[in-house]
Amino acid sequence: MSATPANEPLLDYVTSCALPTPWAQFTLHAFVEHGPGFGPAGKEHLAMVLGDIGDGEPVLARVHSECLTGDVLFSQRCDCGAQLEGALQRIAQEGRGILLYLRQEGRGIGLVNKIRAYRLQEAGADTVEANLQLGFHADARNYELCRPMLAQFGVKSLRLMTNNPRKIDAMTRLGIQVAERVPLLVNRNAFNNSYLNTKQAKLGHMMSPASVPVGEPVVVTAAAPDAS
Ligand SMILES: [Zn+2]
Repeated sequence: MSATPANEPLLDYVTSCALPTPWAQFTLHAFVEHGPGFGPAGKEHLAMVLGDIGDGEPVLARVHSECLTGDVLFSQRCDCGAQLEGALQRIAQEGRGILLYLRQEGRGIGLVNKIRAYRLQEAGADTVEANLQLGFHADARNYELCRPMLAQFGVKSLRLMTNNPRKIDAMTRLGIQVAERVPLLVNRNAFNNSYLNTKQAKLGHMMSPASVPVGEPVVVTAAAPDAS
């Protein structure tokens, strides 16, 4: 999906406003994606910023992909809503950070296809098998937009809140330094336990609780037996 020439802008910065939340007053910034080539033209993406993030020091950051069911509808099938809330709370605690909200629903397959995948999971598939059965990659997300979005704020180095090593690799390939991985382990429950185990076993997600400098070995505890 990297067909766009490197010198061609991927999206436009549009405008910003204050966004009060229960934890802090962020500044909300709006971007609109170009197209075609990467995503559909006109797709809107967001950044939530708190404090002075353009001073060259690593910035506490979350790169969050849209999950309407988890972020908005309180779904317990995944950990997205709790990760979103946890990341904003952590940024508020430190008084400095950025959350990129990328509109790539359902690990990039879209909302309706995600619901199709959930249906397949109810018939016995795991989250990876369901995506593959629908003809998609296990993880179709693309992080290319992060580079121009972070460049907008002068951010070059992240303390990235993630459990996903692919996200760290993606940032590194984009030339964005990940100075530290900050684990974001929230909301494991009876409904998403096997989903989280699949993300660990098949997608390499790191469910170790410690904060780990990138490059150091991460001890991953064995996945619990999959109940489904
Ligand atoms: Zn989700």
